[in-house]
Order: sequence, then C-alpha cells, then structure tokens
Amino acid sequence: MSEEMSPITVEEALERVLACFHPLEAEEVRLEEALGRVLAEDVVAEEDIPPFPNAAMDGYAVRGEEVAQARRDAPVSLRVIGEVAAGEMPSVAVEAGTAVRIMTGAPLPAGADTVVPFEQTDEGTPGMAMEPGWVRVLEAVRPGKNIRPAGEDVHRGERVLERGIRLRPQEVGLLASLGRTHVRVTRRPRVVILATGSELVEPGRPLPPGKIRNSNAYSNYAQVLACGGLPLRLPIARDRVSEISARLDRGLAWGADLFITSGGVSAGEYDLVKKVLASRGQISFWRVRMQPGRPMAFGHIQGVPLLGLPGNPVSSMVAFILFARPAILKMLGQKARRKPEVEAVLLEDAPAYPDRRRYLRAIVEQEEDGGYTARLTGPQGSGILSSMVRANGLAIIPESAYPAARAGTTVRVMMLDWPEVE
Ligand code: AMP
Ligand code: MG
Repeated sequence: MSEEMSPITVEEALERVLACFHPLEAEEVRLEEALGRVLAEDVVAEEDIPPFPNAAMDGYAVRGEEVAQARRDAPVSLRVIGEVAAGEMPSVAVEAGTAVRIMTGAPLPAGADTVVPFEQTDEGTPGMAMEPGWVRVLEAVRPGKNIRPAGEDVHRGERVLERGIRLRPQEVGLLASLGRTHVRVTRRPRVVILATGSELVEPGRPLPPGKIRNSNAYSNYAQVLACGGLPLRLPIARDRVSEISARLDRGLAWGADLFITSGGVSAGEYDLVKKVLASRGQISFWRVRMQPGRPMAFGHIQGVPLLGLPGNPVSSMVAFILFARPAILKMLGQKARRKPEVEAVLLEDAPAYPDRRRYLRAIVEQEEDGGYTARLTGPQGSGILSSMVRANGLAIIPESAYPAARAGTTVRVMMLDWPEVE
C-alpha cells in the first residue's frame, strides 16, 4: 500500500492505470448481437462484392459503342431479344443491333457493357409509341455507364475491417454482404459498481433526514454500458469494513474484471477503504492534479484492479471518463481510446486553479464560419450534476491560465458524446 500524496498529473495517473489492463479474450457472436462490440479479428473478404457485373438502373443492356451517338432526332433502334430480372441469369447474349431489357441488380448479359435507363429510351418517354420487339435509344449514353462491375465495392482478398474497431450498423451490413453469420469480438469486461457511504439511499426508497440519493452507482453503471462493458451494481456499502469487504467478495464471485467504487477516497475518509484492502490486496491513494476529481484510489483486490473514484457526483463522472473508460476500452482491445478535443473560443471567463487543471462543464456550438465556441453550463461545484446534464463537453483550463482563461481566448474542449479517436 502506498500513500503517495505528492500530486500527479492526469497523464501520469492514466499511464499508471492503463499499464494494468490488457485486452480480454475473444468470443463469437451472431451479427444480430454485434452492434457496439469491438472487432477481435481482421476481416478479409472471401468474395467479391458485388459477385458479378450487374445493372445499376432499370433499362436496356446494350453494346455501348452502338448508342454513343444516339440523339432524339437520330434515335438508335435496337431489337429486344430478352429480359432479365434481379436474381435470374440472362439466357441470351447481346449482339450487334440488339438489347436485353434488364432490371436493377440483374446480371449483365454477355456482350453488353452499358445500360441505357428507360428514361433515355422511348419506353420511358410519355406519348411515344413503342414498336413491339424494338426499343429506340433517344440519348447518347457513355459506354460502361450504369454498370456495377464485379468487386466494385470489395475485392476478394482485401482486408475490409480491422481488429480493434467498434462495430457500427454499416460494419454489420458489410459483414453480412460478405456472407458472414458470426464475427469474433472481444468479451465484454465485467465491471462491478459499488457505491460506499453511510449517507446513501437507493432511488425508490424513502429519504430519511440527513441522507442523500445514491446517484453515482447509476451514472457509473450507465457509463460502463455506454463504453461496452457488462456492469453489475451491488447494494450500497455503508462505511464499515465488513460491508465493503462482503460486497467485494460478491464481485469476485461474479468474476469481476474491474471494480469501480465511489466515495471513501478523500483525505478524511480513506482509512476505511485502506483497511479493507490492506488485508486482501494493495492500494495507492492519489491526488491527481485535476478538478473535479482530485482524490482517487487505484489498486488490486485479489488480482482484480480496483478504481476508487471520488464520491462527489461530477468528480466521479469526470474521473470515470478520464480513467475508467480508457481502461475498459483497453480491455476491449479498442484502438481509439481518446475522447476527441476541439478548439473553441470561450464566450465567458473560465476560472482557473493555480495547481491543477480544470475540466469545466461547457456547451460547444459550431458557428457559421465553422469555428467552435464554448459557454460554461452553470455552477461548477463537484456535486452539481445539472450543469453536467447541460454540457456536451469539458473545457480544459490549464494551470497556466490562472486566475482565469478570459472570454475570447481559445481553449481545448473534450467532446463527451463524440466517439473516441486514436
Ligand atoms: P466522499 O468521497 O465519500 O467523501 O463523498 C464526497 C461527497 O459525495 C459527499 O457529499 C457524499 O455524500 C457524496 N457522495 C458520495 N457517494 C455518493 C453517491 N454514490 N451518490 C451521490 N453522492 C455521493
Ligand atoms: Mg463517503
């Protein structure tokens, strides 16, 4: 156990945390369950997409050179020798002076290299009488037009998806178009959420005098879900060694990959968590040079990492975003682990601290010139969740700006709801 009380930077703390995490093993899931999971294989196409050249429009499959000069006042007449719909194979080849009627997605008949859309023939032109068995092309069509060649989308042998990405609907669709029914993804990390504090009461229960609601367990639970982990919320532990210890046992029995606790890590309080962990693991208490979220604990309990977040609701959230989230993403094998930052012009003064970086709740908007502005969302107390609710980013105010970053200066803002970048 170490009680390192000389403050460390956010970067230092993150580095120490991340050093203790490694990607978990992979599992196979059906495509229906693949959304939001992290890909644990490089996907190489075993087929061309599309598998054969086909029509991109409804129209007539022709030899391009024959219609390259067609004009309304000099139409090209072609004999229609057949028809092919999507899912069928053409029964005839296109020869000089002929065309095959073709539907979008149908295989291109041999001999044809171009599709003339109906709209450019007499068939698609209101008031024009068609001669049975013939089509007149009314407009020039560039040879090769309206064709989707085999492999236009994906070539067989090409690596189309890279390990470490998070699967979105478009990746799921691509996997299906390659014929895949299953995909290898990283197992979801099992994350135990434990709120500590004798003052806490669960939502839905009467609130006796002097007590407050347990909100951290729920925001942390939601954050674990949002980053792809599998959360387990344990009942509140009062500030007693026996209760905290019993909860940790439940988490271990469940197969926790990570414990996230809240509360009990500030200077006046950490004796308790310290006591619990002294007997069964090791723990360090850190003062991170940030606000909110300065006190934090990190250690292992019987080999399972434990991240002790502060009790104040916003401190807890910010510390989760900065440390727990990257740790979970690393367990998931996700390559992109950094929240993106934008440069934004402050619309008001943002108070700084001399000794630690501030993360101020802000709303970022894009102006007409494309640049971003940032406005603080209200009171910045560590317990005030409503200003977090109004925020879409955290404005990063460095110590060097002390006493304040002035309105009109440019600061970096970490965007909370944007997907991570590498
Ligand atoms: P602590 O870090 O335990 O000293 O708690 C700091 C502040 O956060 C105190 O005002 C606590 O009442 C409050 N707090 C601690 N845990 C929670 C929680 N789970 N939900 C909401 N507030 C909490
Ligand atoms: Mg407490």
